Amino acid sequence: MSDCIFCKIIKGEIPSELVYENEHVVGFKDINPEAPIHLLIVPKKHISSTMDITDNDKNIIIPEIFAGIQQLAKEFNIEQDGFRVVNNCGNYGGQTVGHLHFHLLGGRELQWPPG
Ligand code: 5GP
Ligand code: ZN
Repeated sequence: MSDCIFCKIIKGEIPSELVYENEHVVGFKDINPEAPIHLLIVPKKHISSTMDITDNDKNIIIPEIFAGIQQLAKEFNIEQDGFRVVNNCGNYGGQTVGHLHFHLLGGRELQWPPG
């Protein structure tokens, strides 16, 4: 999508701190980190939200996203202490970028529940 900020990041039209990339998925640092480690794991395909994930995406892209999350948790040394994976969906879910993404937050003890 031409006006999507994450599509622009994926195409290299907007700079980002890339930490992960394969055929279907990229990972980059969140521009406004809420924890010492705050990464975004994003499909290269423009999928607007969790509600727009197709059956085909569920077979290919979603497993690759979680493989990326596991690899990044190891690389950033948070797999032992633990971390949080968050997907915000829609207005009430607090989604501000309309391109599916999973937050990977770690490096400190996180509070629960969210507001
Ligand atoms: P959401 O609120 O949609 O779940 O999360 C969107 C996230 O994208 C926010 O944490 C925000 O800081 C991050 N973000 C927004 N614009 C940019 C950007 O241009 N670059 C990067 N790296 N992160 C962004
Ligand atoms: Zn997009």
